[in-house]
Amino acid sequence: MGDLLASLAGAVDASGILTGDDIGPRYTDTRGHGPAGAPACVMRPTSTAEVSAILKLCHDAGRTVVPQGGMTGLVGGGTPGDGDVVLSLERMNAIEEIDPIGRTMIADAGVVLETAHGVADDAGFVLPIDLGARGSATLGGLISTNAGGNRVIRYGMTRQSVLGLEAVLADGTILTSMNRMLKNNAGYDLKQLFIGSEGTLGLVTRCVLRLQPKPLTTSTAFVGIDDFQSVPAFLALLDTKLGGGLGAFEVMWSEYYDFVRDHCPSLKPPLPPNHKYYVVTDALGSNPEADKDRFEAILETAHTQGLIQDGVVAQSDKERDDLWAIREGAGEGFRTIAPMFTYDVSMPITVMDDFATQSMADIEVAFPGAKTLILGHLGDGNLHAVVSVGDGSEAAHRKVNDILYGIIRDAGGSVSAEHGIGTEKRDYLNWSRTDAEVEIMRMLKRTLDPKGILNPGKVI
Ligand SMILES: Cc1cc2nc3c(=O)[nH]c(=O)nc-3n(C[C@H](O)[C@H](O)[C@H](O)COP(=O)(O)OP(=O)(O)OC[C@H]3O[C@@H](n4cnc5c(N)ncnc54)[C@H](O)[C@@H]3O)c2cc1C
Repeated sequence: MGDLLASLAGAVDASGILTGDDIGPRYTDTRGHGPAGAPACVMRPTSTAEVSAILKLCHDAGRTVVPQGGMTGLVGGGTPGDGDVVLSLERMNAIEEIDPIGRTMIADAGVVLETAHGVADDAGFVLPIDLGARGSATLGGLISTNAGGNRVIRYGMTRQSVLGLEAVLADGTILTSMNRMLKNNAGYDLKQLFIGSEGTLGLVTRCVLRLQPKPLTTSTAFVGIDDFQSVPAFLALLDTKLGGGLGAFEVMWSEYYDFVRDHCPSLKPPLPPNHKYYVVTDALGSNPEADKDRFEAILETAHTQGLIQDGVVAQSDKERDDLWAIREGAGEGFRTIAPMFTYDVSMPITVMDDFATQSMADIEVAFPGAKTLILGHLGDGNLHAVVSVGDGSEAAHRKVNDILYGIIRDAGGSVSAEHGIGTEKRDYLNWSRTDAEVEIMRMLKRTLDPKGILNPGKVI
């Protein structure tokens, strides 16, 4: 290792390599997703050429490499093992260009999402990828996990915002595919190999992102609904009447809402606790004079049709933040029921309520007194579950996994909607993918990374 460390040190400037006690907690803090080992070193390159040089050296030496962005991933994808070389993109954080005509942003992979939002906003656009970890998650991490978030229903997953990218393969080969056009069918679309492959096929170093016109208005409502059939019916009504302006549609089962009321004193639940489902929804528009009235008229129609029983509309940005905090800000409550296991799954909307009912029932049988909270991006077919069984052991985790993923498998859903597979869901990949699909994934991995040095033990 000594020779390799010396060669790696020669590939970067003095701040580009950390060893021993200089390796801070940032690189091993996995947010509880897998125990981290002790990396041999942390490489902090400043250019694609440096990333290439590092990977070539590691490839020649057969040394395993773990890519890291903001370390906000929720499945252990960035967790290093003993002796790994961590390759952090944190110093590759320049925004190279905004093209207001082509509506594109060219940026380094280490740019933090919130920074990219600010630059897009200053230029009069919106970068529509958005999620709670925006203050730390990086563009490279978002691309590598094909992250979702709250605006997927309007703008799609991260994949839909990536026009081009640059990646470095395991052997140091630089693949520059910085397409700026919406249309480019010249052969295979190689960028797709690196979107959502969690750093197992290559290191993303730069990207071309698609910007969108900035919405001029956001109208937000929080409603209570008493029967599940009305939830997708309300979604369909909004979708149809808003003419493409539906910006978010998030559903919370009553157990989650009641939990927020009981365990999150800093939040302000806007409705009485007598409904079975709660929805927070955003409408994005471009007409400040008319949008709010139109939104309220749609809610009135939904009420008249019996789709919603109660609701409030935000009258200010502060009220909007308060309504969204019910959905996003339950961290203080979660801390009171730790240890807990979190889930991110997808399934057809039609089976969601059965999933919720069966999950809660089966977990209660296995762990009497357990708490199972369900919420999620219903319009995207994506639910999250938070499960606390009073036991954080690996055995308990596996038992809850088997229960929930078993229901998902039988429903034809996916064990990962937006967070990826990492190490946490690796054993369950074939519960959502056919043998042939998994074998093609392995074939791609062998072809692009024959020595298996990139993010070992992750995904497949
Ligand atoms: C509070 C909170 C809310 C969240 N909300 C959402 C949500 O709504 N939707 C959602 O999808 N996710 C969500 N996440 C998960 C997380 O934010 C995303 O997975 C994000 O994309 C990770 O970005 P990162 O830069 O932190 O990547 P990291 O965590 O550092 O890495 C994630 C994976 O990508 C790989 N990787 C990182 N950078 C690169 C690169 N440049 N090239 C190749 N591989 C790389 C890593 O090896 C790892 O496998 C949330 C997380 C938190 C903590």
